[in-house]
Amino acid sequence: MNNLIIKGEIIDLKAHNHFKGSILVKGDTIESISTKDESGAHVIDADDYFILPGFIDAHVHIMEKGFKLEDRIETPLSFYFYNAINNMRTTLNTGVTTIRDAGMADFGVKLASEEGIVPAPRMQISVVPISTTGGHFDFHMKSGLNIELKYPGLPSSICDGASEVRKKTREILRAGADVIKIMATGGVMSANDRPDDTQFTKKELKIMVDEARFKGKKTMAHAHGLEGIKNCIKAGINSIEHGTYIDKKTAAEMRDKGVYLVPTLLVTAELAREAKKGELPSYTRNDAIEVAKVHRENIEVAYEEGVQLIMGTDSGVIEHGKNLKELSYLSKVGMEPWEVLESATLKAAECIGWDDKIGSLDKGKLADIIVVKENPLEDIESLANPDNILLVVKDGKIFKDLLRIL
Ligand SMILES: [Zn+2]
Repeated sequence: MNNLIIKGEIIDLKAHNHFKGSILVKGDTIESISTKDESGAHVIDADDYFILPGFIDAHVHIMEKGFKLEDRIETPLSFYFYNAINNMRTTLNTGVTTIRDAGMADFGVKLASEEGIVPAPRMQISVVPISTTGGHFDFHMKSGLNIELKYPGLPSSICDGASEVRKKTREILRAGADVIKIMATGGVMSANDRPDDTQFTKKELKIMVDEARFKGKKTMAHAHGLEGIKNCIKAGINSIEHGTYIDKKTAAEMRDKGVYLVPTLLVTAELAREAKKGELPSYTRNDAIEVAKVHRENIEVAYEEGVQLIMGTDSGVIEHGKNLKELSYLSKVGMEPWEVLESATLKAAECIGWDDKIGSLDKGKLADIIVVKENPLEDIESLANPDNILLVVKDGKIFKDLLRIL
């Protein structure tokens, strides 16, 4: 079994401490962490730099490149997969070693990552987000045309009413979903709804949560509007994505029930910027500007109320490879540097239910380790620049190494 030793300034997220030390990796696992100057077969000397656990992005669409409706008409199916190869490599190079795919990556994409066929982050997949008729993932146009992308590994996700919703959840689980993603409100990028529209009833949401739970799986809900957010919390959803119109009282309920919030601040900011420049299609322009106005303020309220925020970027809606820019946005809503780092490591691992194997530099955890040039506790924005991410190790294997050329 291959041994790897990485030496440098180790950032201990659990103890809120950093110290000079060595991490010994055996195979795909962290064997030990010590303050001793270890030596062995393969030593990576990162003495002047900082060592962190690999980052987790809890909201990515690895198959997408813009998520524009026109793509469904113009893009050949195979091209999504070739594109995804680039997207996965780019994501890994930013220091993100695990992603939770929020829709469109099927089981084969996850398998290609697991078997090392392509350089890719470790992934949890939701296969396809479950949506109501006329909801955020219904691709029927006003013309009556349906431009939904589906193929054997990616079933259609439209369902209404108790029995259809139950069957659909089971179908998506059968297709290999690690997590059930639900469109609980309208959204920005869809043609037929507004972001604060409520979609699915409390009863329907509860059925999906139950069906996921029966198989030991978690649920994540795309939810902008307040009524939709409230319905999700009552139904027992594990994480709310976006959370645009959240209020103080609902935030307090989320805190008390331990519901995570993945605010995806970067995508909101970027879409509003594109909308103002006239770069977004007309059906989404007003929604993008409207959402950005209230999103940041409401997320600040949620944070002050004590909701656990998690890093998620919606990369795929925006360009891949900007993932760690989200960390600057999280610090702007008031999070301290330690909290920001935790939201993308320890806490993100808890959110996706993988805290037993990733999210911190601990003996026995998978060796997902990155080395960065600047001290992130002093300059969180430095992480957004992929050139500052010097080394990326996933499962004990080196995927990026800029230290050799420094
Ligand atoms: Zn998304």
